[in-house]
Amino acid sequence: MISVSDALDTLLDLVSPMAAETVPLRAAAGRVLAEPVSAKRDQPPFAASAMDGYALKSAEVEKDAMFKVIGESAAGHGFAGRVGAGQAVRIFTGAPVPEGADFVVIQEDISRSGNLITIADHPGTSTNIRPKGGDFQIGTTMDAPRVLGSADIALLAAMNIAQVPVRKQPTVALISTGDELVLPGDTPGPDQIIASNTFGLDALLTAAGARVRILPIARDTESDLRTGFELAQDADLIVTIGGASVGDHDLVAGVTETLGMSRAFYKVAMRPGKPLMAGTLGQSTMVGLPGNPVSAMVCGHIFILPMLRAMLGLGTDTPALLTAPLAHPVSENGPRQHYMRGRFDGQSVHVFDDQDSARLTLLAEANVLVVRPPKDGARATGERINYLPI
Ligand code: AMP
Ligand code: MG
Repeated sequence: MISVSDALDTLLDLVSPMAAETVPLRAAAGRVLAEPVSAKRDQPPFAASAMDGYALKSAEVEKDAMFKVIGESAAGHGFAGRVGAGQAVRIFTGAPVPEGADFVVIQEDISRSGNLITIADHPGTSTNIRPKGGDFQIGTTMDAPRVLGSADIALLAAMNIAQVPVRKQPTVALISTGDELVLPGDTPGPDQIIASNTFGLDALLTAAGARVRILPIARDTESDLRTGFELAQDADLIVTIGGASVGDHDLVAGVTETLGMSRAFYKVAMRPGKPLMAGTLGQSTMVGLPGNPVSAMVCGHIFILPMLRAMLGLGTDTPALLTAPLAHPVSENGPRQHYMRGRFDGQSVHVFDDQDSARLTLLAEANVLVVRPPKDGARATGERINYLPI
């Protein structure tokens, strides 16, 4: 058995960053920027008014000063002339500030009669002008890697970057194994259950940027499992669920061996999730997860997500653990690293009494996995404990 961190190092060694591809801006949302991109223009491209008002010379701004309005500058329709002494241009938000003007008096501070305006109130010190290039300039870069959120997409649009270089999404094939499994919506026989963690893993990995394919459930026969691997062979990552232990019906280790997989390791000193195997199968990386629903999902968080991040070019650092005080004492941990379901309520962590790895209700109720290292001693109420938000 190897430690969780050795297992993770080995798994991360099995994968490498995907190639880049260029996609239209809208398709880039949620994707990982593959290389730095730079703005093709200044924003704003001209000194722009931040308010509705009158553009004039700052040197002439004082209460009761009068000006003649000589024209108008609206968004998309600038004023072509020049503002001279004693002159003003009616201006609106987003419009170019005309030449000769360097101040916008907001309309609330003006009284107007025909073409004459008077500054009726002291206009303050802000020029109400956004300088050319004040947000970004030609050459301002957005650095990579970066998961592109909605604000990034808005910024890329403003930079006039219509085609975005992103990492290709890793394709992940999920193969559930077991005679007892049927798909959600099907009618299970009396000895059957619904394949659940398959769908949980699909949700987890899709949200993390993978393109997931759920393959037909492989029955517990070598030929069915072999067919599953054949169907999955073009995937970047093949994840099997179940059949990973050493029971008579656990066939994943044997079948992958006959298919020529070089196995990186087999068992990890962790709870839940001890039987876990990984290696390289043809073009693909293969990870065999245990079938117990909570084990499979915990392994998804602890191993598969970091692998996906590495494949997406987001690096190999694992997310830092957080710490919070315990709401109650916990007993000594055994020899395996234990990921315990619990809830953090904003103040302290409550670790659930029941840690049965078949109980999905407790996983759904949990918002953290408390991480107990092997042989971690008993802990008292208020002691700080490490956890991973899930
Ligand atoms: P196994 O690793 O195949 O021995 O499976 C361990 C336990 O997990 C058994 O109770 C299986 O019925 C259950 N199991 C295996 N695969 C799945 C799945 N995809 N969804 C839900 N339960 C599963
Ligand atoms: Mg099974």
